[in-house]
Amino acid sequence: MSALPVPVQPELAAAGFDFDVIVIGAGYGGFDAAKHAADHGLRVAIVESKEMGGTCVNRGCVPSKALLAASGRVRELADADHLKGFGIHAAPVRFERQKIADHARQLVETIRTNLTRALERSGVTILRGKGRLEGPQRVGVRELSGVDRTYTARDVIIATGSDPFVPPGIETDGRTVFTSDEAINLEWLPRWITIIGSGYIGLEFADVYTALGCEVTMIEALDRVMPTFDPDIAKIAARQLIDGREIDARSGVLASRIIPGCPVRIELVDMATREPVETLEVDAVLVATGRVPVSRDLNLASMGVETNRGFIPVDDSLRVLKAEQPVPHLWAVGDVTGKMMLAHTAAAQGTVAVDNILGHERRIDYRSIPAATFTHPEISSVGLSEADAKSLAVGEGFELGSVRSYFKANSKALAELESDGLLKLLFRKDTGEVLGAHIYGLHAADLIQEIANAVARRQGVSQLATEVHTHPTLSEVVEAAYKQAVLALTGA
Ligand SMILES: Cc1cc2nc3c(=O)[nH]c(=O)nc-3n(C[C@H](O)[C@H](O)[C@H](O)COP(=O)(O)OP(=O)(O)OC[C@H]3O[C@@H](n4cnc5c(N)ncnc54)[C@H](O)[C@@H]3O)c2cc1C
Repeated sequence: MSALPVPVQPELAAAGFDFDVIVIGAGYGGFDAAKHAADHGLRVAIVESKEMGGTCVNRGCVPSKALLAASGRVRELADADHLKGFGIHAAPVRFERQKIADHARQLVETIRTNLTRALERSGVTILRGKGRLEGPQRVGVRELSGVDRTYTARDVIIATGSDPFVPPGIETDGRTVFTSDEAINLEWLPRWITIIGSGYIGLEFADVYTALGCEVTMIEALDRVMPTFDPDIAKIAARQLIDGREIDARSGVLASRIIPGCPVRIELVDMATREPVETLEVDAVLVATGRVPVSRDLNLASMGVETNRGFIPVDDSLRVLKAEQPVPHLWAVGDVTGKMMLAHTAAAQGTVAVDNILGHERRIDYRSIPAATFTHPEISSVGLSEADAKSLAVGEGFELGSVRSYFKANSKALAELESDGLLKLLFRKDTGEVLGAHIYGLHAADLIQEIANAVARRQGVSQLATEVHTHPTLSEVVEAAYKQAVLALTGA
């Protein structure tokens, strides 16, 4: 992605449409697109059918991180052995579930208000209602009152996001069987909760629930828990985050049927044979089995666009594709595109789309976008997985380098009595270019950014290893990896 500033294109503002840009959906992707466009002088409207801020602000990143912050404190204060290591003896911890839930709710309200005001201050017109395409450069809006209006815009950006996926056979009632949409309200603390799925959402909620004293069973259909994570990182992380918390984790089993109630009944079958394995009776179930795009009601057919299981096909400039060719003046960003479904990806895509609308050709670089799971400790990654890096190495004929840097060799981690952690760095042995990194350990979500920046600049370990890091900090885990990598370079 190239740098701004981007000058305003006056010919766009004069184009005889109701707006220069209409954005459908005011989540993180839509927000960044709309604000960026308005800040660069375009006349912008944003259409939102529910709460401003979308999933991240209302039902995702923001409330979940508030719950993790509060429950993380509870875990820390309740961990007598850990505190004893510092010579600290604390009284038994008490917490108020409702106040923890209120903390999350208040944070959501604050951020939603700030975001709405920021759009208003930038001059964005907010249209409350459900948007749909009505052919090229036309957007229909069914307002909350039921009135239908049509607006024209030179460019239309779709940013309608995603909803939780509930697999067939699972019935939700929002109270005993629910998705993250309800879990973030922390309405009650079940004595025994089963979490279906061991992706980042399942892991983060397992972190919250175990800290607050719930018994957790985790069900994973694939043959290992944490299947989307680097296998070495998953192994060391699972030791602490799952086994260390006495979570009963089962892989290779499918929850074929879940019936809400008191108790909730879960029928488990073997993933491979589909033979019944067991029936569990628990107090609650959180279904964390991924997310599906929100695109069905957009009337994409009016533009001849076909989706891929609901995901809107786009190129790296965020142009919507029809039969692999860009559709003029139609863009899509965020979860609805199915590319690294994260808030900062959506936001980055939004600004890239707008820069292209402004006439500055930009493409998004997914390889340099980091991802994090905010468990205690955290997990993060950027760039290629080891499997993809190996394929690239074979395809391009270079040798792949891989080094490990351990938190137990880091002074700051030792001082914090948090020395369980690993960084795996992947790089080209011929040029030293960093291809990817995978981290488990204290503040992994912050540590990954330095490596993400290096990946974005396609930097090599020889240069990176000369950069001085503050002592004593966790960032020296990264420095140690770069230094090890230099020793492994071909001919070093
Ligand atoms: C529990 C949880 C935790 C998460 N934690 C993180 C995290 O820590 N970090 C991170 O980066 N990501 C996180 N995510 C993912 C992140 O929330 C999403 O990637 C991000 O919200 C996607 O933004 P978006 O703009 O594409 O879509 P959304 O945020 O889903 O917004 C889409 C908006 O469009 C609106 N809309 C849909 N259809 C229409 C229509 N026809 N007309 C008008 N409006 C419409 C919706 O109401 C919604 O407001 C988390 C998600 C969950 C569920």
